[in-house]
Amino acid sequence: MSDSTLVGGHLRSDDPELASLIDEETKRQSTTLQLIASENFTSLAVMEATASVLTNKYSEGYPGKRYYGGNQIIDKVETLAIERLKRLFNAPWANVQPHSGANANAAVYFALLKPQDTVLAMRLDQGGHLTHGSPVNFSGQLYNFVGYGVTDKGDGGETINFDNMYELALKHRPKLIVAGATAYPRVITVDRVREIADEVGAMVMFDAAHVAGLIAAGVYPNPLYTSSGGKGADVVTFTTHKTLRGPRGGAIVGHEEHGSVIDRALFPGFQGGPLENTIAAKAVAFLEALQPEFRLYQEQVVRNARAFADALERQGFRLVSGGTDTHLLLVDLQSFDPELSGKVAQEALDRAGITCNRNQIPGDPRSPFVTSGLRFGTAAMTTTGMEEEQMRQVAEFIATALRKREDESEVTRVRAEVEALCLKFPPPFLKK
Ligand SMILES: *Cc1c(COP(=O)(O)O)cnc(C)c1O
Repeated sequence: MSDSTLVGGHLRSDDPELASLIDEETKRQSTTLQLIASENFTSLAVMEATASVLTNKYSEGYPGKRYYGGNQIIDKVETLAIERLKRLFNAPWANVQPHSGANANAAVYFALLKPQDTVLAMRLDQGGHLTHGSPVNFSGQLYNFVGYGVTDKGDGGETINFDNMYELALKHRPKLIVAGATAYPRVITVDRVREIADEVGAMVMFDAAHVAGLIAAGVYPNPLYTSSGGKGADVVTFTTHKTLRGPRGGAIVGHEEHGSVIDRALFPGFQGGPLENTIAAKAVAFLEALQPEFRLYQEQVVRNARAFADALERQGFRLVSGGTDTHLLLVDLQSFDPELSGKVAQEALDRAGITCNRNQIPGDPRSPFVTSGLRFGTAAMTTTGMEEEQMRQVAEFIATALRKREDESEVTRVRAEVEALCLKFPPPFLKK
């Protein structure tokens, strides 16, 4: 790995200890399968911008309104990122400064709510995110979150229960309704959310952390607008590093009316100086996402997820909601093997070189630490060039590794096959 482009001569000579850890991680990323739904591989251009001199500059404030001097060029960088993002989401307003998806959500809450205000969001055990009111998260401690769920199992089941959302909205009169999830394989259309919010006088935040790339490519409806072109969500928050395939970070787009209050809530309200090197890398990723090839990529991401879901079903796994419309799959392990928990499965797959995360499924009898499910995503695999044929192969690797999990020689054999497959589909940072 010493010929890798990732560690330059300076790091290697000044800090060999750290350089060798990066080498090890480079090897891990390129010889094991990355199936974590929230991960992806950025381009080398994104990585170069992240590693640029822009990391040296303090630029508290916003373009044209900075607290320190010397920001003439930084202003152009951030404005470029904002303009590209507005184009990507057809958004009247955008903020590219959130350090993460969690910070984007925090800024919106801080701008639109007062402590103890009521918010309606998806239940955490049915797909919601920590920042949607978990008791261990600031959101659950500062605000009064009420959770809606998914419908029961069965045909068309395990999808957002809008009747439940409506009932809870009438009962609790939330100031904000949060749509969007972290472990939900289906498309969420904003139309019904907007209707319910309008009826109770609530605002709508759509957390598109997972699906931002799909939205940017037009393979998932843009939640800023309803299907008839009216106003959908007031604001859409997201991460830039999941399907959007940019640097690790967050962003917010929205309609004009809440823009300035959210800008102020993020800075000076919540964050300090922006990470302009990361913002530059976001600009690069937004430019990539504006290209026609990005749409082809996202279409392949969804086709791969469907092929992967079908193949897993044939191996005896049950898919929550019966399949997927996105990059994400939630697997119920109970039909495959009732004894097998998500925790044991995740550990067995790790030994086989298959990286994923355990996840609760709706109505999970096991705790969030143990779980009865696994979550997979196809964004990273698709970036390496894998297609449907490889998805079927990976489903077979998973089934074999889990069936033979007690037999170390079988697990080792799968690991060797996984590595051989990965070497045929290197991540962008190893492509010649
Ligand atoms: C990943 C995720 C976040 C948080 O993003 P971070 O960058 O990890 O803070 C927020 N909301 C949802 C729905 C997510 O999936």
